[in-house]
Amino acid sequence: MHLQENIPLAPLNTFRLGGPARFFVEATSVTDVQEAAAFAQSKNLPLFVLGGGSNLVVADSGWPGLVLKVAVLGIEQRPGHDNEGKLLFEVGAGESWDRFVSQAVIAKGAGVECLSGIPGSVGGTPVQNVGAYGQEVSQTIESVEVFDRNDGQVRELCRDACGFTYRSSIFNTTERGRFIILRVAYALTPGGEAHIDYADLKRHFEDRETRPNLAETREAVRHIRARKGMLIVPGDPDCQSAGSFFKNPVLTESQHEDLRKRVAAKRLTLPIYPGLEKSSKVSAAWLVEKSGFDRGYGFGHVGISSKHALAIVNRGGATAAEVLALKDQIQHRVEEIWGVRLEPEPVMVGF
Ligand SMILES: Cc1cc2nc3c(=O)[nH]c(=O)nc-3n(C[C@H](O)[C@H](O)[C@H](O)COP(=O)(O)OP(=O)(O)OC[C@H]3O[C@@H](n4cnc5c(N)ncnc54)[C@H](O)[C@@H]3O)c2cc1C
Repeated sequence: MHLQENIPLAPLNTFRLGGPARFFVEATSVTDVQEAAAFAQSKNLPLFVLGGGSNLVVADSGWPGLVLKVAVLGIEQRPGHDNEGKLLFEVGAGESWDRFVSQAVIAKGAGVECLSGIPGSVGGTPVQNVGAYGQEVSQTIESVEVFDRNDGQVRELCRDACGFTYRSSIFNTTERGRFIILRVAYALTPGGEAHIDYADLKRHFEDRETRPNLAETREAVRHIRARKGMLIVPGDPDCQSAGSFFKNPVLTESQHEDLRKRVAAKRLTLPIYPGLEKSSKVSAAWLVEKSGFDRGYGFGHVGISSKHALAIVNRGGATAAEVLALKDQIQHRVEEIWGVRLEPEPVMVGF
C-alpha cells in the first residue's frame, strides 16, 4: 500500500472542485484495500471510498481522513454461459464503466448498451443503481464482491441482497460506508436485442427499417448524451459537473394530485415521464426549467448547463460553496412553486 498525504481531490472528480485528502491510497489489489481500511481504523480516521469521482461534490475544505481510490482492474469473460444461458463478466471495481460496456457490446452481450457513456467506475454502478434510457444495472448485476468493514471479510452479495431501487441500493442507504466494492459480476443476454424503448432513442432510429444492433445503439446513446452534455468530452464546458444534480422525484398519490392542481392552475401540462406513464415519478428537469432556471442560467463560476436543465456546472474556478448555493436556490424555488422537494443525486463529501 502506497500512502500519500495532502492529495488534491479536484483533479479526481468530474466537477473539478473541492479541497485535498489528508491521506490518500490508490488500491490496486484486495490486499491494498484491506491494509488501507486497517490503517484508517487504527488511526481512527474517517474513510471515503472514491471511484471515478463522477457523482460527488467535495467540500472546499477537502476530506479530513483517508480517501481510498479503488483501482482493482480486470474484465474477465467467464468461459461458456451460466445455467440460464447468460454471458457472464467479472469486472474489477476500478475499471472504467464505459470500457466494460464497450467490451460487452463487442462480445454481443445485451443488457448494458443503453448505459453507454456514463462516466465513472464499475464499482460506482451498484451504489446508486445507475440507469439511463430504460436500463438500470440492477437488471444485469449477478453479484457484487465486497470487503466488509464490519468484520474485515471479503464476501459475495447476490443481486437480491443489494436492495436495488431507483438510484438506490444498500450501499447508499442502510449499509452506507460498510462495504468496499471490489468486483461486480454482470449476466448479459448473448446475441440479445438492443433495448430501444426510450423516446430519444426511438426518435434517433425512426427512419430505420431494420432493428438497430447493440453497437449502433451504443453509438446512438453516446451521440444523444453528447448533445445533452451528459458525456465527458474534453473541452466541453458543460461537462464539468456531476451529471444530473437532482433525482426525479417519486411522489405519493396526494403529492402528485397537489402537483397536478398547481400545474393546471398555471395552464401548463405535466410531461409524462417516458416509459413510466403509470408511475408517479415526475421529471425534475421540467420542474427546474418551469421554476425559472433555464439552460445556461447562472452567476459567477457556477451555472446550469446550456444543454441540460438538470446539470449544475462548474464554469471554471467554482467552489463547492457556490455549487451548494445554487442547489439551495433551485430547491427552494421549486418547492415554493410546485410543492415538491428535489433531492440531490451526487454524494456530498466532507461537509
Ligand atoms: C456527465 C455525467 C453524466 C452522468 N450520467 C448518469 C446517468 O445517466 N445515470 C446515472 O445513474 N448516473 C449518471 N452520472 C453519475 C455517475 O456517473 C454515476 O453515479 C457513477 O456510477 C458514479 O461512479 P463513480 O465511480 O464515479 O463513483 P464516485 O463518484 O467516485 O462515488 C460515488 C459514490 O459511490 C461510492 N463508491 C464508488 N466506488 C465505490 C466502491 N468501489 N466501493 C464502495 N463505494 C464506492 C462513493 O463512496 C460515493 O459514495 C453521470 C455523471 C456525469 C458527470
